Amino acid sequence: MRELIVAIDGPSGAGKSTLSRRLAKELGYVNINTGALYRTVALAATRKMVDLTDEAALGRLAREIIIEFVRPETGERVIFDGEDVSEAIRTPEISCLTSRISAYPEVRRALNELQRKLGSQGGVVLEGRDIGTVVFPQAEVKFFLSASAEERGRRRNDELKARGILVELEKTIAAVEARDAADSAREHAPLTQAADAMVIDSTAMSIEEVLQKMVTVVQQRRRLAGLAEPVMELGR
Ligand code: C5P
Repeated sequence: MRELIVAIDGPSGAGKSTLSRRLAKELGYVNINTGALYRTVALAATRKMVDLTDEAALGRLAREIIIEFVRPETGERVIFDGEDVSEAIRTPEISCLTSRISAYPEVRRALNELQRKLGSQGGVVLEGRDIGTVVFPQAEVKFFLSASAEERGRRRNDELKARGILVELEKTIAAVEARDAADSAREHAPLTQAADAMVIDSTAMSIEEVLQKMVTVVQQRRRLAGLAEPVMELGR
């Protein structure tokens, strides 16, 4: 039996990135941030001046693009065309453009293939919007992480502030809500909860509390699959 595929889906600002990274570390799994793939395609499209309404051209770009994840101790970095674009892909403008280009089936098809290539061996935690529903419907563990719009907006604003981007809280909440509405309403692979996903509302929970809950669920599922107990260093 291979190690498990763990899917974490949910709206923006629900804590997916932090929890996916921490959970992968606890389990000794590889963390795959699928939003970074969509974001890098959006950034590349603006840099290469690809028409953002030209689905075929965007699909080609998504198929040809080479994105690398580098994981130094200080956190994951995203490299595109030899450049560290980790910051450039996280501006509010790119967030908004990403939501637009991710609605195109051609773009999604290309990135779905890439995600399956990266994750099908197991031992992975993937976070996104459609991992448990479309990319890996056979994932052994599925979480759907949510939180109130105010809380998600506040967390996003704190993240932006930490990177020196100051935006009014009300504006961030409105942007988060607009992006979620677009992601949920799109025709192809909208943000929806998989029927077999465990829903965790993190509004009033700390990262540590959610993490412990997730670790417990994954370990139960590993035992069920006959996988040996790993050595865990909790509290990192
Ligand atoms: O997770 P993150 O906020 O970085 O994702 C940015 C955008 O990428 C989302 O708003 C969504 O439009 C798109 N996305 C997606 N499917 C995924 C991951 C991200 O459509 N699996």
